[in-house]
Amino acid sequence: MNVMKIFLGGLMLFSHAKADVSFVVDLETGAPIEGAVLYLKEQRLAFRSDVNGKVELPEKYNSSVVAVFSKNYLDAKVELPIREIKLKFDDALMNEIEREMAFTRADTLRGAQGAFRKNNDLLFYDLNIRVDVANKYLSGWNTVRFEMLENSQRIQLDLFQNMQVDSIVFAGKKIGFTRAVNAVFIEFPEMLQAGKIAEIDFHYSGYPKSDGRFGGFTFSQDSLGAPWVFTACQNIGASLWWPNKDQQPDEPDSMKMHIEIPADLVDVSNGRFLGKEDLGDGFVRYNWSINYPINNYSVSVNIAPFVHFSERFGDLTLDYYVQPYNLQRAKEQFKQVVSMLACFESKFGPYPFPKDGYKLIEAPYLGMEHQSAVTYGNGYQNGYSGQDWTGVGISTKFDFIIVHESGHEWFGNSVTANDVSDAWIHEGWCTYTEGVYVECLFGYEESLRYLNGYKSKIKNKQPIIGPTAVNRWPTSDQYFKGALFLNTLRHVVNDEQKWASFVRLYTEHFKCKNIFTTDVVNFFNERLDRDFMPIFRQYLYEAQLPVLQLKFSKAEVQYRWQSGVSDFNMPVMVRTPAGNQLLNPVSEWQSVELNGVGKEDWQVATDLFYIETQEL
Ligand SMILES: [Zn+2]
Repeated sequence: MNVMKIFLGGLMLFSHAKADVSFVVDLETGAPIEGAVLYLKEQRLAFRSDVNGKVELPEKYNSSVVAVFSKNYLDAKVELPIREIKLKFDDALMNEIEREMAFTRADTLRGAQGAFRKNNDLLFYDLNIRVDVANKYLSGWNTVRFEMLENSQRIQLDLFQNMQVDSIVFAGKKIGFTRAVNAVFIEFPEMLQAGKIAEIDFHYSGYPKSDGRFGGFTFSQDSLGAPWVFTACQNIGASLWWPNKDQQPDEPDSMKMHIEIPADLVDVSNGRFLGKEDLGDGFVRYNWSINYPINNYSVSVNIAPFVHFSERFGDLTLDYYVQPYNLQRAKEQFKQVVSMLACFESKFGPYPFPKDGYKLIEAPYLGMEHQSAVTYGNGYQNGYSGQDWTGVGISTKFDFIIVHESGHEWFGNSVTANDVSDAWIHEGWCTYTEGVYVECLFGYEESLRYLNGYKSKIKNKQPIIGPTAVNRWPTSDQYFKGALFLNTLRHVVNDEQKWASFVRLYTEHFKCKNIFTTDVVNFFNERLDRDFMPIFRQYLYEAQLPVLQLKFSKAEVQYRWQSGVSDFNMPVMVRTPAGNQLLNPVSEWQSVELNGVGKEDWQVATDLFYIETQEL
């Protein structure tokens, strides 16, 4: 499935209108700028420039003024239509930490939606591999079916350079390819016309790396010395162990996996188990069918002498695979799965992958949100590795990994960010789901305490949205500040029912879709009837929090926002003995009477709105 199809399918407002094409470029060098946000203020509509700096603006907005901003560039305002939008780079705007980041061609090959990725739409993967556990060796092939979106003789897939490309077969013949770092450019002997559905078999082999945040492809052992093989390759890339289009915007509509492993072990992968076959050579083949689009980093193998138990949640199958010696502990701890699903389904809609079922699989690392095959390594204890994660005595009342990693089924696996720089769409929302779970179990006040406990982990040193198109995982603020940003938005909406139905609509609207932050802003603006852009800009593109400046006198208090976003405006709640008071500060001073309330009794609700206050 390809993001362009969704756009053409009518999701976006501009899909049916004729569009004028503009390009956003650097004033000095003329280089294209990806990720520039173009914003039509009267329409409350945001657009984003692609890897070529290209952005399509509906013709009907001609003679509208569009505001343009991009990281490290001075803001601009231009009138439509405009062929080229030139932005002036300003060193002073650079984030200090991001300034030190250096990106290579390898990062761009991996992170950008380049010409030879964009020219086709994935339809189907059929991954067939043998995992030779004794030799720590992989071999097999991936059948890749895709539809051409443009006429071309070349597509880009990816496979780490330490892995060997054995052959690429198209229409029964081996075809050529070239490799550049971890990218593989496949050269077809003929022009593939737009609309053509083509299929290749990509044969490969090699010794995959154990690398990255979670282990990549790891041949490990359990405490009894039995093999325990797993994949966990988010960020570093699924192409570390299998050939695929290693990016986020395009997912195959479905997938099959055939995993050959030593006969005394069990493989648990994603999707529905189709059965196993004895191959008669000491190996068995486990067959799995994934009935939905899937992130490539979610595709996984988990190989160990697992034992299995199961239950149901309504029509949904719940399957658990654990080490034999942990069976009793698992049966006890995994009771939390049902309360998690009940809570999340009530707040975010039905579990997104019912045909594939829900699985929880024991892993030797903390955990990962592999779609319909969540891995669990929290040691059958509550909290985060047993710790009180947000430090307010609530984390220890539930299993962080069951809740957080399963929350990703809605936020990350169903609703997926197109670019890694937009990863808050996964992690901010998913961290917020923890608060939702706490609210289901212990109520609103405890949920607020839980989420506010995250303040101690927030740095406010880099913006939540980092450099684009280079596969750079943003700051950890995307989790904790992301969650408190959503908590802030909830209180900006200030209507519990409206917020609840909005969140439900959000997950439904973007179900199994791949989106940018601009799509989120547009959805907020459209459904909640407010211009959220200044708030999103402040929390996602600025490192610092907005500061509510206050000047107290005997009779009144003056207030205003200090923010890096010139038109920043956001309501904020104040608690007084006489009741709650909603202020609407802007960048100019306003004032409100204190009516005899002392300064110490006039309390800004910083637990509802994640802001700083400063008394002048
Ligand atoms: Zn997460």
